Amino acid sequence: MRIKEQLKQLKPYQPGKPIEEVKREYGLDKVVKLASNENPFGCSEAAKEALQQEIEQLALYPDGYSAALRTRLSEHLNVSEKSLIFGNGSDELVQIICRSFLNEKTNTITAASTFPQYKHNAVIEGAEVREIAIRQDGGHDLDAMLAAIDENTQIVWVCSPNNPTGTYTAESELLSFLNRVPSHVLVVLDEAYYEYVTAEDYPESIPLLEKHPNLIILRTFSKAYGLAALRVGYGIASEALIRQIEPAREPFNTSRLGQAAAIAALSDQDFIASCVKKNAAGLKQYYDFAKTHGLRYYPSQTNFVLIDFNRPADELFQALLQKGYIVRSGNALGFPTSLRITIGTKEQNEEILTILAEML
Ligand SMILES: *Cc1c(COP(=O)(O)O)cnc(C)c1O
Repeated sequence: MRIKEQLKQLKPYQPGKPIEEVKREYGLDKVVKLASNENPFGCSEAAKEALQQEIEQLALYPDGYSAALRTRLSEHLNVSEKSLIFGNGSDELVQIICRSFLNEKTNTITAASTFPQYKHNAVIEGAEVREIAIRQDGGHDLDAMLAAIDENTQIVWVCSPNNPTGTYTAESELLSFLNRVPSHVLVVLDEAYYEYVTAEDYPESIPLLEKHPNLIILRTFSKAYGLAALRVGYGIASEALIRQIEPAREPFNTSRLGQAAAIAALSDQDFIASCVKKNAAGLKQYYDFAKTHGLRYYPSQTNFVLIDFNRPADELFQALLQKGYIVRSGNALGFPTSLRITIGTKEQNEEILTILAEML
């Protein structure tokens, strides 16, 4: 057998440690996971009710076109139904886009550090990955990313807000970038944390699609909507672009449960608003802590924060783990002395900061 050469250099995705495993390993009753930017407040009650109903239909395949969700979401976003594509999480949309655009003769441009799945999927397709260091302030260096484009460049990935820094690309920067990107290059704007953003100069990206047919926006129900388990993400782009990538999508890639819950969750915007408010208060707990202890952090527009503790991240990670707190070590993310911590409930944040204070 002759497996693709590039697969030999890849490792499977390393997820945050599961709660059950940590409980067993360390003999703990209570374990709090603040490692994968899940919503600590769960999801809307309306979504849970919709799931109860849908459970009667488990024997039936889902609607492969996600028609009901498509209609509901197109109303919510004020876009046409044909400008949407659904994925088994936005992770799958990253895969679909890579399958559609990349091969051995092409290259793609990402920030370093950013969401690792862009590179991972690009490598599987055999494409060259050009990684452009982020700026001192954590933002994408869009000028350098532009300069790296050549005639074989197929995709530029812009993660805004960026994971793992939590920083965002301001409207003026994004506009200037889009106006200069050659039309043969697809720009993927990953807005997984869109709902959490409060910055006033964060661009409203959907209206930009009209002028930029080479733009696709990715969003998800996994983060603020609190439906990570159900795997529903979506892309928004010109109808022509969506039509071109649809054949690369699996026929039944989103589940009945996912579609039903997402429809209900969209109708409960009060839930989102209350989570965003509590998240902002939680972020402030971490900022206050960092200021008190003289620690550097990136101001975040997300439900996580990257804090530099000036000591090996893996050690801090391990010490927190033993006390029942799962966070993300910055080591594998390109920040060897930082932790990426998901904003939890007020009490969870207090508890974790108390432990961290003792360790510092
Ligand atoms: C979490 C995350 C995703 C993936 O979300 P799913 O919809 O659950 O696959 C995509 N992009 C970024 C930047 C993320 O942080």
